[in-house]
Amino acid sequence: MAEEQGFGVLWYTEWLSSLEAHVHGIKRIIYDGRTKYQRVTLAETGSFGLTLFLDGYAQSSEYDEFVYHESLVHPAMLTHPHPEKVLVIGGGEGATLREVLKHPSVKRAVMVDIDEELVEIVKRYMWKWHRSSFDDPRVELLFMDGKKFVEETSERFDVIILDLTDPVSGTPGVHLYTKEFYETIYDKLTPQGVMVTQATSTRYNVKAFSVINNTVASVFPVARPYKVFVATFYSEWGFALGSKGRDPLKIDKEEISRRLQSLDLRYLDLETFYYLFHIPKYIREEMQKY
Ligand code: SAM
Repeated sequence: MAEEQGFGVLWYTEWLSSLEAHVHGIKRIIYDGRTKYQRVTLAETGSFGLTLFLDGYAQSSEYDEFVYHESLVHPAMLTHPHPEKVLVIGGGEGATLREVLKHPSVKRAVMVDIDEELVEIVKRYMWKWHRSSFDDPRVELLFMDGKKFVEETSERFDVIILDLTDPVSGTPGVHLYTKEFYETIYDKLTPQGVMVTQATSTRYNVKAFSVINNTVASVFPVARPYKVFVATFYSEWGFALGSKGRDPLKIDKEEISRRLQSLDLRYLDLETFYYLFHIPKYIREEMQKY
């Protein structure tokens, strides 16, 4: 992982594919250890500032975590006309919760992450991400497998956000990218309910992006793929949105604009909201294959 080299800098190699690596210059390692579920490395990198790696893959950095988290959360929240009850599965950094809580309509937000030790590390070192969201009185924080929670709960949610590690064999989130799981999510949503999941990199794993989006589209009457460029991931990052009711691209622009303005965001405004949904031709063609 990290090894000493010249110039008094440590280098951390993140393998993006078997033939490509991103080598981060590390100024300081803040934490490096194993929880029951994953290897957690928190380091101050030269380019991205404080960066969280899980099992060797960057999850988010101080530099542009807001780009990823605003893009993950708000399209789904805005697609619902008045989200009151929200479920976040995964999202250990607490930044997804932070974005959800910005919506004044939210009365209850349940976050279910499998890894309590990770969240303890996040609470201790990553205030910039969670900004004490875990202490908000609207929040219930649970530590268990998100799949088990969704299968067992009798509660219904307006929005369900899946902020999970990538679907890589042997990692704890892999079972939460299946058609069966999305069908269970569908059942646990209220009539106008909306779900969104991160859907991996459109550059390094366009097949996974396509398959996840096509699977969501096989379950939900309205499905929209979208993506955003995240420098920390060296790639455009994909998402898959499924809605039982409204289509995000058919909502009155004035409503989107008004609601976005009340949220105090850094990446999303009306212009970037619509830009997210522009999928390049070659990716649309790729999606037809699966
Ligand atoms: N921002 C990240 C990205 O796209 O690269 C992903 C966010 S986050 C750090 C991933 C979280 O998913 C972790 O906190 C991990 O513990 C959690 N997770 C993985 N599998 C899970 C499961 N089966 N149930 C609940 N949480 C899970």
